[in-house]
Amino acid sequence: MKSIAAIASELQGYDPQALRVAAVNTFLSRLVESVTTQETAGIFQALGRVLAQDVISPISVPAHDNSAMDGYAFDAAQLSNDAPLTLTIAGTLRAGAGWPHRVEPGQCIRIMTGAIMPGGLDTVVPQEFVSGDGSTITIPAGLLHAGDNRRKLGEDLMQGQPALRRGQLLTPAALGLLASLGIAEVPVWRKLRVAYFSTGDEILSLGQAPREGAVYDSNRYTVFGLLSRLGCEVIDMGVVRDEPHLLETAFTQAAQQADAIITSGGVSVGEADYTKLLMKKLGDVAFWKIAMRPGRPMAVGRIGQAVLFGLPGNPVAVMVTFLAFVRPALLQMMGSAAATPPMLRARSLEPLRKKPGRTEYQRGTVSTGSDGMPQVRITGNQGSGVLSSMVQANGLIVLAHDQGDVAAGDLVEVMMFDGVI
Ligand code: AMP
Ligand code: MG
Repeated sequence: MKSIAAIASELQGYDPQALRVAAVNTFLSRLVESVTTQETAGIFQALGRVLAQDVISPISVPAHDNSAMDGYAFDAAQLSNDAPLTLTIAGTLRAGAGWPHRVEPGQCIRIMTGAIMPGGLDTVVPQEFVSGDGSTITIPAGLLHAGDNRRKLGEDLMQGQPALRRGQLLTPAALGLLASLGIAEVPVWRKLRVAYFSTGDEILSLGQAPREGAVYDSNRYTVFGLLSRLGCEVIDMGVVRDEPHLLETAFTQAAQQADAIITSGGVSVGEADYTKLLMKKLGDVAFWKIAMRPGRPMAVGRIGQAVLFGLPGNPVAVMVTFLAFVRPALLQMMGSAAATPPMLRARSLEPLRKKPGRTEYQRGTVSTGSDGMPQVRITGNQGSGVLSSMVQANGLIVLAHDQGDVAAGDLVEVMMFDGVI
């Protein structure tokens, strides 16, 4: 486990007062460690979990060459380019069944989709392409090639080969694939435990009476949603008032129970409160100013064995810093080998103001233009407290560090989050 100072010394041009977005991700990837405990999950519990070992295919899928169509199986060696081929129907084969007899030259077998290809036959002519009288069929010349409409043994998965790799996030498709191999349970990494709380004396919990100057806590609920979607075990520690002993208890308890701690608020420069003080006292923590908008201040480090993500207080900044930094770091901790999702390139429907020297994240709604290409429009007020514009958005327009203003019609990169968060 490396100290903050050790990681900082490894990074070229590390400046905590003006950290680039890319440097934050690099730093975090060196700070966090993957869980090491495995457990077994039944297939219904495995959705969203991370595979802890390669799954080797115990069988080939499909297990036999079989028909991809309803039609007639025959030996394509009999096809000629310039004459139709007439064959006698020697029998019928249903899905899953095999044909125990020899098929003689001049014969074919009526075959249903999924039926095992009879020995010596390699091609299927779909039933709608043939003419016939019930006992014979005629295949037009030049229509088919050897191997057409036949699924090959092992074309999906070959016995003994890895079907899924360690680190694979178990998606609906992965569950189906496991089932196709007859596998009912898999080794997965244990779930990540993440504790979170909100700080600030002005923050009200739900159920408390409103009072002048106070705001309801929204961050805890967004963070809850983000973590739940990621498949983490969540530990909700409420709103912690700005009193040293309360903060100390919260941080200590969180560090004992969780792999990661996420707080919001209290990390900006001018903060008079005790959050930063307690982070410093209890942990090995860096306080950053990140060259980004929204979300400039952030505290990162360790308290005990737990990784600390001290996010800014503004509700949109919480979501942006979570998506940009915390989510990839947590995935790494979960043992996931998932690559960063690709950015979508979309045409900006409006000019966008952008200051070079920081990465900007603007909330946008991506839709399909009349030419079928993706286009994006920003969702109104981009203030870092304006959650309603986050609700309307389905992605974040990411304007790179060195980039300046964007003209209407320019292509911009969008980090899509619909369905991701
Ligand atoms: P801070 O980072 O503590 O300076 O907070 C920045 C802004 O975010 C302030 O307007 C806070 O009132 C607001 N804020 C902080 N925490 C929360 C929260 N949990 N829910 C809603 N707003 C918050
Ligand atoms: Mg505050």
